[in-house]
Amino acid sequence: MIKVKRKKFDEIIDCIDRYNNILNVGCGGCASVCLGGGQKEVGILNEELRLYYEKKGEKKDIDAYTVERACNEKCFLDLPNVIEKGNYDAIITMCCSAGTQLIAEKFNKIPVYPAVDTIAIGIDRDIGLYEEKCRACGHCVIGYTGGICPITRCAKSLFNGPCGGTNKGMCEVNPNIPCAWYEIYNRLKEQNRLEDIKKIHPPVDWKNQIQRTVVQYGYEERYVNMDV
Ligand code: SF4
Ligand code: SF4
Repeated sequence: MIKVKRKKFDEIIDCIDRYNNILNVGCGGCASVCLGGGQKEVGILNEELRLYYEKKGEKKDIDAYTVERACNEKCFLDLPNVIEKGNYDAIITMCCSAGTQLIAEKFNKIPVYPAVDTIAIGIDRDIGLYEEKCRACGHCVIGYTGGICPITRCAKSLFNGPCGGTNKGMCEVNPNIPCAWYEIYNRLKEQNRLEDIKKIHPPVDWKNQIQRTVVQYGYEERYVNMDV
């Protein structure tokens, strides 16, 4: 899932300081699950903002609203009503940057500011502890690398074996982190398929350097006229 993390308080203040009537939009999907931007986190941020402005002797109205999922407009059908009724000067979002961009697109007359940073596609190691696992490169090779992503795990995102700096199983860029290719080697060895490490892969075609549109298998006909 996508992992988000709240921005520093000062950065949020810098975004909203000039507005008086603000809506904070949270997301009940990934942002909520990673404890970065669900209903609870929206409430906490709003309370901190309220106390901050109260201390300064300034009056600001900051409302809260959490949508089911911010990355699909069918999951926030009631948001237009909320925004119209509230007549807000600005929106802050605690959704991932994809959801934030969809909200900015739908309500393009109102300034939209993310109150969280979108950090990673990752897994949960524990409550509030996440580990990045994928950078959405667009051509997954982990079937050949023992289920370990060389793009995310290797500091140089190497596709074909370790660099010359791997040292006693640790990465030369950060000696506290195991070398990804050392781990890949061990995993493949354990599975008796070391021949996979010898397969040379062409250089990464960085498909994530341009915006991509994804049409799922089975849905091609539906979008046949789209240039994707
Ligand atoms: S190879 Fe690409 S798609 Fe696969 S896990 Fe790594 S970054 Fe993600
Ligand atoms: S030491 Fe290993 S993980 Fe680090 S950059 Fe080199 S190959 Fe990648």
